[in-house]
Amino acid sequence: MTDCKKIAGLLFPDCTKTPDDYEALYPPRVLPEGAMVTRFAPSPTGFMHIGNLFSCLIDRLAAGKNGVFYLRIEDTDKKREVAGAIDAILSGLAYFGIVPDEGMSGETTETGEYGPYKQSLRRDIYACFAKSLVEKGLAYPCFCSEEEIAALRERQEKQGVTPGYYGEWACCRSLSDEQIEENLRQGKPYVLRLRSFGSEDKKIFVDDKIKGKLEMPENVQDIVLLKTDGIPTYHFAHAVDDHLMRTTHVVRGDEWISSLPVHIQLFQALGVKPPKYVHIAPIMKLDNGNKRKLSKRKDPESAVSFYVQQGYPAEGVVEYLMTLSNSNFEDWRKANRNAPLSDFPFTIKKMSASGALFDQAKLEDICKEVISRFSADEVFSRVFAWAKNEDEELFRLMDSDPDKARAIFAIDRGGAKPRKDMARWNMAKQYMAYFYDELFAAEDAMPENIAADDRSAILTQYAGVYDEADTKDEWFAKIKALCEPLGFSPDVKAYKKNPDAYKGHVGDVSSVIRVAVTGRRNTPDLYEVMKVLGKDRVLARLQNAR
Ligand code: GLU
Repeated sequence: MTDCKKIAGLLFPDCTKTPDDYEALYPPRVLPEGAMVTRFAPSPTGFMHIGNLFSCLIDRLAAGKNGVFYLRIEDTDKKREVAGAIDAILSGLAYFGIVPDEGMSGETTETGEYGPYKQSLRRDIYACFAKSLVEKGLAYPCFCSEEEIAALRERQEKQGVTPGYYGEWACCRSLSDEQIEENLRQGKPYVLRLRSFGSEDKKIFVDDKIKGKLEMPENVQDIVLLKTDGIPTYHFAHAVDDHLMRTTHVVRGDEWISSLPVHIQLFQALGVKPPKYVHIAPIMKLDNGNKRKLSKRKDPESAVSFYVQQGYPAEGVVEYLMTLSNSNFEDWRKANRNAPLSDFPFTIKKMSASGALFDQAKLEDICKEVISRFSADEVFSRVFAWAKNEDEELFRLMDSDPDKARAIFAIDRGGAKPRKDMARWNMAKQYMAYFYDELFAAEDAMPENIAADDRSAILTQYAGVYDEADTKDEWFAKIKALCEPLGFSPDVKAYKKNPDAYKGHVGDVSSVIRVAVTGRRNTPDLYEVMKVLGKDRVLARLQNAR
């Protein structure tokens, strides 16, 4: 290729703009000193990995209020595209309180001055930059068919050399202008390749903000920039976009580190400064004693949708991810119980270079803690919203009597020592079940140490004295009063001193009542529980359990 300008004109006859036009259209952003511009750049495949959510959280925190976090959709691979994926990404992020400042805001809508934010709408831009690379002699058309590429690979394998389209193996590198023109005249399909200027014995150096100094051999491959249909590859499109959208920091999973030599070379070829890199270590899992990445195929908990479906409160998941991001987060949280996350002095510098282990038990503990601080109203509306999508039966029950559901959640809540027994909204049904006859079941057996006759007597006598209007003291006094005539001690200490003198103590008596009324041995405050159940239901259950 000798007359690069001419070939560029032949390859891109419709391209009238120059890179300078786009530089003017998307000028450097005017932001306060040090403000970061970050992005989430997913393909719309319909799957969001928990690692993606983690990197979005970092993107969001790093950009803060002064910077910009935007959403760009990388839809260059139409085969992998799933309808509705952009809305799903946005609602997934929104569930966790992460809202991009600009970029795609719906399947077809966007905000911001640096768009379009969907790669399929940026063909002209890629064509213009591709053309400029051809003009500079840094890209060329390659007419090799798939068969020819496969044959090349075979030859390389036989000879034991690095596979790929590069150096002397790259036969279309040296096509003459006439050959190119002839091929174009014949309508031969072609891809556009980078004319790599890398050398295997030279290195690239990247100062990654998490991984530190990285050193890798330069790229030598003539990678594809535009496919036969003119659609760019991810590598090329993302370089053009990250530059034009004025991205300052690329935050992404560290599986992309191996692509850095290509990416750095692309930025060099484009004649622009590469962004800074923040490569995040993956979230790991212990599998038979071995550490491995959370896998989309094997681990349901790798999907963000898992947390939504199970009803983990968003705040809990985010808090948990924060503990993975900066190790000082937990101490900060202890000292600042109710402070908003944005007050945390997050810093990329404190992020760990190696993958943290995913600890579901810890996630659940954090979620329990988070839920224990919610008001009854808050719990009600979260469970209600969750049930609407995930549990029709629960939704109907709550909908039929919202005040009752609120009253259930109000038991043992709001005080100094709130219960911490709910980690996710899908535990709510089990938590609430005995309040509804439709769901009530005798889950626990009556205490075995109390004879059937005594149980009946306790329940019969209690039914005779129970009064819904009693105060808590009156209520307890009545249970105590049942004890002696039936051979139980109203006082636990007295019973312990002389256990042979009694059939049991007041705790056993109330346990019989509790199991009769709720079907469980362990419930929140029984007095409150009975109040919510109401007289008719309490009496019916006392009767049924006799
Ligand atoms: N579209 C790429 C992905 O699917 C983005 C990688 C990057 O952040 O550069 O993960």
